[in-house]
Amino acid sequence: MKMSKLFVQTLREYPNDAEAISHKLLVRAGFIKKLANGIYTYLPLAQRVLTKISNIVREEMDASGAQELLMPFVQPAEIWQKSQRWQKYGKELLRCEDRHGNQMCLAPTHEEVITSVVSGIATSYKQLPLNLYQIQTKFRDEIRPRFGLLRGREFIMKDAYSFHTSQKDLEREYEVMAQTYTNIFKRCGLETKAVQSDSGAIGGAVSHEYMVLVDTSVGENDVFYCDCGYSANSNHAISILNKEETNGNFKEEKIVDTPNTKTIEELAKFLNIEPDCILKAVAYIADSKPVIAMIRGDKEIEETKLMNALNALEIRPMENDEVIEYLNSYPGFISHRDVDSSKVRVLFDNSAKGMKNFVLGANIKDKHITGANLEKDIEFVDISLVKEGELCPICHKPLKKTKGIEVGNIFQLGTKYSSPMNACYTDEQGQLKPYIMGCYGIGVSRTMAAAIEKYHDEHGIIWPIAIAPYHVDIVPVNCDDEEQMKIASDLYDKLQKLNIEVILDDRKDRAGVKFKDADLIGFPIRITVGKTISEGLVEFKIRKTGEVIKLSPDEAIEKCKEILLN
Ligand code: ATP
Ligand code: MG
Repeated sequence: MKMSKLFVQTLREYPNDAEAISHKLLVRAGFIKKLANGIYTYLPLAQRVLTKISNIVREEMDASGAQELLMPFVQPAEIWQKSQRWQKYGKELLRCEDRHGNQMCLAPTHEEVITSVVSGIATSYKQLPLNLYQIQTKFRDEIRPRFGLLRGREFIMKDAYSFHTSQKDLEREYEVMAQTYTNIFKRCGLETKAVQSDSGAIGGAVSHEYMVLVDTSVGENDVFYCDCGYSANSNHAISILNKEETNGNFKEEKIVDTPNTKTIEELAKFLNIEPDCILKAVAYIADSKPVIAMIRGDKEIEETKLMNALNALEIRPMENDEVIEYLNSYPGFISHRDVDSSKVRVLFDNSAKGMKNFVLGANIKDKHITGANLEKDIEFVDISLVKEGELCPICHKPLKKTKGIEVGNIFQLGTKYSSPMNACYTDEQGQLKPYIMGCYGIGVSRTMAAAIEKYHDEHGIIWPIAIAPYHVDIVPVNCDDEEQMKIASDLYDKLQKLNIEVILDDRKDRAGVKFKDADLIGFPIRITVGKTISEGLVEFKIRKTGEVIKLSPDEAIEKCKEILLN
């Protein structure tokens, strides 16, 4: 491709609405163009990268025995009502009506469609197991689309769905997919960590997320991990507390004045105790109902765990006036005691289990109870956020924390969709049984952005070879110089014949401009044809290392082969 013909426009400045470096670089280097919030056009350079990632995904999925199909993007409400997700999916599901007044939606995922596709075709156990996948646009009306392609509203996903006659066979396929995912990301040049995770709206019991670990906030997931191999998303991680028992050492229970002590820190300081001797009450509204979550003072609530424990679809912190109205209490001084249990649900985190003679809100402004103890028969649940340094649940060594971009996700669904949708096969005994299912997603467009988050410098993108839009950029320094143009064109033809993807920067711009664009776009190799051609030499530059060597044109071709065709 001649650079003068390539449909690309690089910008001098980063866009001012971008935070993530991948977003900044994708726009500035001319890969994407915004159409609306969270909705982008993939320009030719990006489309080439996406095609390469998709082809790697296809090759590995096909090698695992899966088969590709393509399902509709616009879906009728009925199948979502059947699976009971029409309501549950919430506002991320973009709904619309067709001209006949039928309710429809744009696909955020395809469990419903694939389940209805397979049932009626794979009617016998003899046709199972099956794994079917597609690579397709998804739409999710994300509450906070951000970071460019990392969290778009419209994005490209590979989604696969498997169908089995037993849990054991599902587990076998799950392992196959786990290995397939590791291979896919490795071939894309990305190291990933498979971490245990919450199953969220997709549902099911066991799931793992494939994380690209990063140290910036674009890694929206906190990951806790240990050298022993344990690793989990913070919404699923568990730990052993450093101190399992705490004692406030108050001799008796009494109400004390604690003026202006609305936070745990203020209260601990005022009473001269450790935060872990305070039983903290955190109030929420879960699906319109009031809830109090009780937790040890040094710990925080993990809201996904809380939602799961409540089986709620939506939660939010309670407003101050709601505390007074629903709890007959006062913000900052809430207690679980004296609440009307028919109206307010109270949950206790495991961390409260070992507390004695602790401090508790008195439900009165500026007052707390000291020397309180827990009532009998309390049930404890895990609703707390793990803290760095707490101990690994497997080997009891301190847990470490990092951030991750989730590029893929695998789930054991079981019969979560097949049962409500009545999707069954006939088993060996002639009985109807619901399929046991798994599902496996990869964010193809997110993977492209994640690669940039990992591989860039102050000059631009540094594409891993396997997913680079082009491999080699040939830059004649002076396009009016016949000798330079002849050598450059000759190199271009020869590399093309070798099926090496090459750009000839035939623009009449200054060499400096072309070098800047080469670095910004991130071609793995740049070959500069300049004055040294009089000595029979070109300049060969490797983007990743910055290494520059002088070679003859033939040697440059050999070097390209060595780097690119192995
Ligand atoms: P997240 O927690 O980031 O919202 P998810 O759990 O909702 O992700 P899945 O439903 O498992 O995502 O979708 C499969 C894959 O699709 C994810 O692993 C991710 O790579 C990608 N993906 C999900 N949402 C988006 C989005 N808004 N923009 C880009 N890619 C996305
Ligand atoms: Mg999501």
